[in-house]
This record gives sequence, structure tokens and C-alpha cells, in this order.
Amino acid sequence: MTAATDLPVLPDEAPRPAARRPPLPDIDPEPRGAAARVLIAVFTGVPMLALLAAVPVAWAWGLLDWQAIVIGIAFYLVSGLGIAMGFHRYFTHSSFKATRALKIILGVAGSLAVEGPVLEWVADHRRHHKYSDREGDPHSPWRFGDDWKALTKGMIWAHMGWLFDRDVTSQQKFAPDWLADRDIRAVSRLFPALVAATLLLPAVIGGVWTMSWQGALIAFFWASLVRVSFLHHVTWSINSICHTFGRLEFEARDKSRNVAWLAVLSFGESWHNLHHADPTCARHGVFKGQIDIAARAIWLAEKLGWARDVRWPDPARLSAKKLGEQRPLGSMARPRPAVAPPSGR
Ligand SMILES: [Zn+2]
Ligand SMILES: [Zn+2]
Repeated sequence: MTAATDLPVLPDEAPRPAARRPPLPDIDPEPRGAAARVLIAVFTGVPMLALLAAVPVAWAWGLLDWQAIVIGIAFYLVSGLGIAMGFHRYFTHSSFKATRALKIILGVAGSLAVEGPVLEWVADHRRHHKYSDREGDPHSPWRFGDDWKALTKGMIWAHMGWLFDRDVTSQQKFAPDWLADRDIRAVSRLFPALVAATLLLPAVIGGVWTMSWQGALIAFFWASLVRVSFLHHVTWSINSICHTFGRLEFEARDKSRNVAWLAVLSFGESWHNLHHADPTCARHGVFKGQIDIAARAIWLAEKLGWARDVRWPDPARLSAKKLGEQRPLGSMARPRPAVAPPSGR
């Protein structure tokens, strides 16, 4: 990507194109160690146990109060939008430009989802797009083949097995833009503290709100553990379900699909076929009626002056990729120009 040279450059000597540095490898030379993988197991496994236990516990012991539900929904909204609008559409794909304050807010909000530091998330996801469903994709469900046995194994891999892969995506290669950003380096470095905050704050709020230790514990169970695990599974479903099942509505070079039933829970991320067909588009549910909460949040940020240069759906670009019957685009699409503009963006 860069045109830096390996050879020492004399002051009066311009870099020569012939002396380009070889491309950086996709994977870091240092593999993910056992300690890191244990941490991943703890921070995904413990919340998942809570999610599995949640319904029986609530049913049998009545350990649920409305305060915990309100706190859980609030944290789900903040961390889920932090992923969909922040980590994904802003940091990975530059679907819009943000003010410095919004950039930091999105970096912090996404970290509260406990899906890894922003630099790691962006690097992994850009590698996913580079290779989508081919060799090199960190989490393709088609990795082991396409018979039912291989696909079952692949679904488990795409959903969460890949988290324990020893391969670490190179941030130098896939996220040099954000590595060069001081604010984002700091947010990424603060990830452990933000994980502590996302787990402890709901308990503190629940305790103070109900003025009881039991209220703190109930909020910790529902609004911290259950909420974190629920969002984990929704995000992971984009990698597993939305690359296997669903509707093919746009031409893409991979197996991405649009999955309507996951749209609300995933803040619009499950319109994944459109996303792979036009990755920088700020709205993924582009057709009329395709709910996309993250796109609405970007729209709101734009109205408030916090976001600009938003890449709203471009009817001319999209009509070339649309498959099947022609359906009208939803709101936020750019108006179709009377005369086609010169190509290029
Ligand atoms: Zn993407
Ligand atoms: Zn994908």
C-alpha cells in the first residue's frame, strides 16, 4: 500500500518505485498465546453461561427486576451501536467522517461490547472483506467445504471458533490509518478498563437505583453478563448465519446474504449481502422497509453536525448490482441525478 523503500534514502534521492518494500504479511509473526486464548474463553464463556442460565433462573427464582431490564437495554443500545455504527461502518469502512468527539465516543461505545480492542476488530474485519469466503478469511463458514458436515463445522468456526485462532491479523497491514491516530491508540489500549466498566457499571447503577445489594447483583447478571453474551451471539451470527442463509438480493463475490429477522437486534448489520456488494455504503438495509437502526443513528449524527460526508445509498451504483425484481430504495438514499455524473467517487 505504501511506497516506502527498504533502502536508505539519501536526502537528494527521491524514492524509486523499483525499490518498493515487499507487502506486509496478513498475519503477525507472533501467534496468539495461551493466556490470551484463556482470557477470550473467560470473557465469552462466562457471559454465555449466564445467558444459558438466564431463563431458568428468572423463572425459578424470580431474580429479575424492571430496573435490570432498563439498564440492560440501555447498555445493549450503546454497545451495539458502538459496534454497528462505530467499529464497523465508521472505523472499518469509513462510511462517514466524524468529529473528534464522536470518533472517541464510538471507539469507547464499541469497546463496551467486549469484542476486542477497536484496532484488532478493524484489522480482522478488513481481512474478512479482503478474502470473504475464500482462503485467508478469518471466519468463513465455508472454510471446511460445502457438504452438511463441513458446513456445520464451518458454522461453529465462523460463529465463535475463529476467536481462538492462533493467527493474529496484522494491524500494521490492515489498520495503519487508526494505528496512526493517537486517540484511537489510547481507546484501544484502554480496552481492559472499558471491559471492567461495561461489566461493573450496570451493577453499580442497579444497586444505587434499587438501594439494595440484590438489585446490584440482578443488574450484574442481566445487564452485564446476559446482555454482553446476547450481543456477542448477534454479532457472531452476522459471520455465521449471514454468510450461509438468507436472501441473495445483490451481486457479491462471496456467500453473504440478507437476513431480515436479525435486522432489529443487529442494528441493521444483518443486511449483510448489500454490505458485501457495497461495503462503504452507510445504510445496509437499503430497500424500503429494511430496518437499519445504525443508519438512522448516522442520519441523526449528520443532522446534529457530528457526522459528514456520509456515503448514503447511491441508486445508480446499486441498480447495477441489484438482482431479482426491482424494489424501491428506502429513505436516506441519494436522489438520482438527472444526468449521470462522471464515474468515480
Ligand atoms: Zn464490513
Ligand atoms: Zn461478511
